[in-house]
Amino acid sequence: MVFTTIHVCCITRVHVCLTVPVVILRKSGKGGNLKREQYVCTACGFNMVGYFVDKCPFCGASKEEFITSEECSARFTVKGFSVNEKVTRLSSVPPLGLEHSAYRVETNNKIYWIDCPSSFDNTLKPMDVIIFTHHHFLGASNQYREHFSSEVRIHKLDSSHKICHAFTFDGTFEENFTLDGIEAFHIDGHTPGFTFYIFEKTLFICDYLFLKGGKMLYNPFGPVKETREGGRKLKSIIRKRKIDFVCGYNYAEDFANWNEKFDNLCN
Ligand SMILES: [Zn+2]
Ligand SMILES: [Zn+2]
Repeated sequence: MVFTTIHVCCITRVHVCLTVPVVILRKSGKGGNLKREQYVCTACGFNMVGYFVDKCPFCGASKEEFITSEECSARFTVKGFSVNEKVTRLSSVPPLGLEHSAYRVETNNKIYWIDCPSSFDNTLKPMDVIIFTHHHFLGASNQYREHFSSEVRIHKLDSSHKICHAFTFDGTFEENFTLDGIEAFHIDGHTPGFTFYIFEKTLFICDYLFLKGGKMLYNPFGPVKETREGGRKLKSIIRKRKIDFVCGYNYAEDFANWNEKFDNLCN
């Protein structure tokens, strides 16, 4: 990152010769060309786009935990781990903050990501669309969107949360939908816009349910009653489906094992 001064007329072609300070953020390694400064909280992975604050807006960690996006890209790589021939788990290596997995889904038409890694890595295979389960794992989606000219979509109820204000969404949705074989189901609960996805026989449930000590728990960070109600909706939808694998925020598990724990939680 280099601080310098340039003439406004040099970049805008407007004949106003004001001298203003400009931050030039250089491209380096796996990082991108940043138009605005960007920081990543190493405690949770949240990206602060265009601002620097004393405490992380997501987890409350102090600013000593923040690194620049460029440093983040230099220190962390995003690696793909095959789930099946069309689904790949994307994780930061080494793990970054509250490391969460995102998933690449290769449909017959487009390449989708479900959720987004916290670290920006421009060596990844381009994606066409990034769709979110909810607003907790926006990651470096602004940089991926810009670098790969991809579209970013999230449920409308989650798009208006204050932690989303620096992120761009190309579209919001309010209804369940199917796109290129990916089915989206809004269940509310953990966040108002929480949406899970099914693609062929794979279920994407992010952090709605935690696996802990061989047991399953509802995510405790959200309204209890609504989260349970969303769990019932999830149950009734997947009951009618042939699912063989579940992709969560920090696990990818065989459906039979996962569903046994889910049954125990629901009973
Ligand atoms: Zn944080
Ligand atoms: Zn969450």
